[in-house]
Amino acid sequence: MRTAEIAKRYLDYFAKHDHLVVPSASLISPNPTTLFTIAGMVPFIPYLMGEQTPPKHRMASNQKCVRTLDIDEVGKTTRHGTFFQMLGNFSFGDYFKEEAIHYAWELLTTPQDQGGYGFDPEKLWMTTFTDDDEARSLWINEGVDPEHIQKMGMEDNFWTTGGPGPGGPCSEIYVDRGPEFGKEGGPIADENRYIEIWDLVFENYEVDNVKSKTDLHIVGELENKNIDTGAGLERLAYLMQGKNNIYETDEVFPVIAAAEQLSGLKYGENEEADVRFRVVADHVRSALMIMSDGVRPSNVGRGYVLRRLLRRTVRSMRMLGVTDPVLPTLFPTSKNAMEASYPELNDTFHEVSESAYGEEDAFRRTLETGTTILDVAVNKAKHDSSEPIVTGEDAFKLHDTYGFPIELTLEMAAEQGVKVDEAKFRELMAEQKSRARADALKKRHNVDLSVYDDFKKTLAKPIDFLGYTDMSARAK
Ligand code: ATP
Repeated sequence: MRTAEIAKRYLDYFAKHDHLVVPSASLISPNPTTLFTIAGMVPFIPYLMGEQTPPKHRMASNQKCVRTLDIDEVGKTTRHGTFFQMLGNFSFGDYFKEEAIHYAWELLTTPQDQGGYGFDPEKLWMTTFTDDDEARSLWINEGVDPEHIQKMGMEDNFWTTGGPGPGGPCSEIYVDRGPEFGKEGGPIADENRYIEIWDLVFENYEVDNVKSKTDLHIVGELENKNIDTGAGLERLAYLMQGKNNIYETDEVFPVIAAAEQLSGLKYGENEEADVRFRVVADHVRSALMIMSDGVRPSNVGRGYVLRRLLRRTVRSMRMLGVTDPVLPTLFPTSKNAMEASYPELNDTFHEVSESAYGEEDAFRRTLETGTTILDVAVNKAKHDSSEPIVTGEDAFKLHDTYGFPIELTLEMAAEQGVKVDEAKFRELMAEQKSRARADALKKRHNVDLSVYDDFKKTLAKPIDFLGYTDMSARAK
């Protein structure tokens, strides 16, 4: 079953159970403390917190998410993407634990020819919060083998916003991939064999004084209890499509196939190369989706995350032996794989791809000059010591003269088994900053400010604002 069809079945199922299905919100998080939308519930926070009235008390969505926290896992585990889609059903003071558990079980286990996902109940495992006997009994009532329900503590199975407000226990659903993928004993024993697919959060408490996940105060029961669930679409897809990981699913794999063509290498023959293929496929798709939501490469915030994704793609392709531009092939491939689910990608693709190709060209120039300098520094370090470290001075020179950000130097040195004296680098950066500040101050004191004198005189007179009554005032 294709990824788009899996998403459709989810949304159809919850629409049938009276949920209002809404389109994904932008990847640009509405929450000022996070750069990207990291979970399906993010756009619904005002409803979950009781700050706004939802258009309906049951809602569902397929939300685009980006989690850069998981970047180091990408390509190495079978289940972590920087971009992924989170299916979710939500109840704002409407149904609670019993229905949430029933819906999840029914959708997962109903045969595919009857509109469900057709998972074998014997392969499903659950975790519940330690004290949540109710969730345990509800799963057993649905027909879950009691041996397949494991208890987890506060750290894993209790959700809060991180501050005062709603909180509550979770119950996670896992699929057992079989003995060839790891140890027996359920998700507690092996989270690579037992893959988490869906997390159900039962928000029934009001909490405050949240110092950490394990150190908080439960004030009492919420008057309006909420349900917030998140199911990983790519994880469902890889398990239902009988693939080995999320990168081999229909919306992601075409980029690996295109990278095989570009490199002349075959995916599946060498683990180290395979990790690079998977990183490329993941990062190209993330970059495309982030750019289509309006972000452009830059040196700060979201733009910097995007820049890193594009640069890591280019470098991973270099490690697969490709030094020619790669994005003009990989970007359209990813767009073609995603457009069935996101036809709007076509509206901005021309501009998005031109910007990505420009970024690749600029980075290729940076790499051409800087790589030789880095290689010299690495070889010098290897020659000087059995525990080689690139000096802070060399890292600084790479940054200052060749535009190599420290992350790039760290990554490229690590690929050759070499560390970098980051502390010294940061010290040199701080010195440079304070020199620049002192120079700027000196300049400001020497500037002739008399040009502003006339302006100051005008400001001394009161100005009438006419805009409320006279819309043509600006043009006059
Ligand atoms: P894990 O522990 O496996 O990293 P998580 O506990 O961080 O997952 P949640 O925050 O509960 O996951 O997210 C809900 C669901 O979203 C998960 O059950 C999973 O199916 C999916 N998911 C989470 N992170 C990712 C990711 N980086 N890539 C793909 N799917 C993800």
